[in-house]
Amino acid sequence: MTFASFGLSAALLRSLEELGYGLPTPVQTAAIPPILEGRDVWASAKTGSGKTAAFALPLLARLGAAPNPSRRLPRALVVVPTRELAAQVAEVIEGLGFRQMPPLSVCLVVGGVSINPQMMELRADVDIVVGTPGRLLDLVDHNALRLSGISMLVLDEADRLLSSGFAEEVSRLTSLLPPQRQNVMCSATFPPAVQQLAAALLVSPVAVNMDAGGAPDESAIAQRAIEVDAPLRTMLLRHLLTSEGWSQVLVFVASQHAAEHVTGKLMKAGIAAAALHGRLSQSARSQALMSFKQRRLRVLVATDLAARGLDVAQLPAVVNYDLPRSPSDYVHRIGRTGRAAENGVAISFVTAESTAHFALIERRNHLSLARERLPGFEPRHQIVAQSDPNGGIKGKRKSKKDKLREAAAAAAGTPTDE
Ligand code: ADP
Ligand code: MG
Repeated sequence: MTFASFGLSAALLRSLEELGYGLPTPVQTAAIPPILEGRDVWASAKTGSGKTAAFALPLLARLGAAPNPSRRLPRALVVVPTRELAAQVAEVIEGLGFRQMPPLSVCLVVGGVSINPQMMELRADVDIVVGTPGRLLDLVDHNALRLSGISMLVLDEADRLLSSGFAEEVSRLTSLLPPQRQNVMCSATFPPAVQQLAAALLVSPVAVNMDAGGAPDESAIAQRAIEVDAPLRTMLLRHLLTSEGWSQVLVFVASQHAAEHVTGKLMKAGIAAAALHGRLSQSARSQALMSFKQRRLRVLVATDLAARGLDVAQLPAVVNYDLPRSPSDYVHRIGRTGRAAENGVAISFVTAESTAHFALIERRNHLSLARERLPGFEPRHQIVAQSDPNGGIKGKRKSKKDKLREAAAAAAGTPTDE
């Protein structure tokens, strides 16, 4: 299969060549033809397998082939869960489409920045709107965005958009769209809980399922689990930076506070690090991600804000400093490395408290990783956790020493290493 065999325009083929996309990836080969035909498509394929172009190319081809009946109304809507991912997806669409004549215009609408420029931009001719749900609805409420001309809807990271936190906003958005339209959904994971919602949005869809079960790609991403006591995690991270010689690492933590705290400790140790989480201003968020992508930072310490979709070229390693809450978040987090035929390593820190939870993550993802212990970092806290039959996690009880340490930390007003 070649891109030319899909019957794409010369302009699109030229952009692909310039971007260095030689051959279509498997998900592109499977998804592009039915999307070009106008079918609804449900595409499930591994992280880093090229899902963006799989929907962007046929989207551009279809819009490019048909003149816009009313230049005042956008024709395609691409919804994603985070601002950073929206910016990235808009950039890919623009990069692929920029040689098309007449040009298709892409408008990025995300929260956290002033709404006025976005309202102005939407007053001009826009073909494709890429955005996050909240700001899209704000613009609708301001009468700045009309969705009655949308002929194609894309939900990227669809399972996230259909789960709690987003489902209501997304259902309000879809209720504003013409019922006669094409729907495309993409993700590396489609947990059972959202499958019904997804199915309800699609009309006789073509299911493009490249990897049943969504298990992480073991050939591209070497997964490891290291047992360590919680207070030694930052030391272990610093040790790994040296011993593994990573040029860069994306570190996931469980909270905004932890992101700041770990970043502070790394910076004190002279390591170029920054935090990325939802309480930062949008300019600080963009700055942190851009510095990391430009390799001016060695470590980015992020919450799950960075778990989905972000494409950092040649990122060698991901560390789960805190474990993710859900098994699918694990898949997305580690999928920030080992993208586009590269290799990467993903290391999870497993503490006494999180050992049962990690076992659950492994089970759900059909994984079984050996537990490593590194010299100098062997856990002293016994790992004797057990999971209860209700699916909850019972960790080891806190030792007297733990409690004393916590009390001392609280008294001194310093956060413990959580
Ligand atoms: P996904 O959404 O499946 O996680 P992306 O669409 O972000 O993956 O693509 C991952 C990386 O692969 C990007 O850097 C992208 O530029 C690159 N890529 C996509 N398709 C191709 C292709 N056909 N040939 C080479 N590189 C590609
Ligand atoms: Mg993606």
